Amino acid sequence: MNFHVLTLFPEMVTSGLNTSIIGRAVENGIITLEAVQIRDYTLDRHKKVDDYTYGGGAGMLMQAQPVYDACKAVQDAITASGRKPARVIFMTPRGHVFNQKMAEEFSKEEDLIFLCGHYEGIDERVLEEVVTDPVSIGDYVLTGGELPAMVAIDCISRLVPGVLSNAESANTESFQNGLLEYPQYSRPEEWMGKKVPEVLLSGHHANVEKWRLEKSLEETLKYRPDLYEKYMAEHPPKPAKKPRRKKVLAKPEDIC
Ligand code: SAM
Repeated sequence: MNFHVLTLFPEMVTSGLNTSIIGRAVENGIITLEAVQIRDYTLDRHKKVDDYTYGGGAGMLMQAQPVYDACKAVQDAITASGRKPARVIFMTPRGHVFNQKMAEEFSKEEDLIFLCGHYEGIDERVLEEVVTDPVSIGDYVLTGGELPAMVAIDCISRLVPGVLSNAESANTESFQNGLLEYPQYSRPEEWMGKKVPEVLLSGHHANVEKWRLEKSLEETLKYRPDLYEKYMAEHPPKPAKKPRRKKVLAKPEDIC
């Protein structure tokens, strides 16, 4: 998986993502991370990339030309390497709210381009031209798209085979099955008078799974009733089984 991030602050992206699990995945060549300085593509002789907004209003807007040329350069390099043009994800509070399902879909791509706005945002005309997926990370406004892009890249990377050392851990986490995760415990068995639930020490796999599902449902109902309702609609409880009537076999003497 190749991530290409178009930004005015490349060092923010590279320093933020080149550590821990994602840093190791980059080092091992499982993912690549390219942070492209949009300013390098401006035709302005003072290297300006922003200007006032038409119609008035506070703040500056990133201009269309440098964004378009930076994006085109990356797409050209991708297609020159024989790969298909990448989806262009614009991080914006005006986009679809990012979630695990989207991350799964994006993780199947070979290349992804992330476009990070700054200041008041980016001229609409270039967005219309290059963006395939406007994506928000939540209903709040940040100063730039770099942190949102890093959030999305971190989440998508975890789903790329080989990035996590234990693939199992990506499958059992919150949202993977539409529910929040159950509580987890490690050693010691007792800490500050609090004991690890008995069932987790029992070694009874089926009971552990049952307990985890119950706890997942409880957590989801408590913190995310919206997800709980959706899950219950998709997984309606099975109707209680009618007690089966015993088949009464006819005795030989009953048969005439
Ligand atoms: N004027 C824009 C608006 O009201 O929609 C907000 C601009 S914001 C100050 C600057 C940049 O930060 C945006 O262009 C976007 O790239 C990024 N950004 C801010 N909040 C975001 C969020 N919740 N999700 C994704 N990106 C965000």
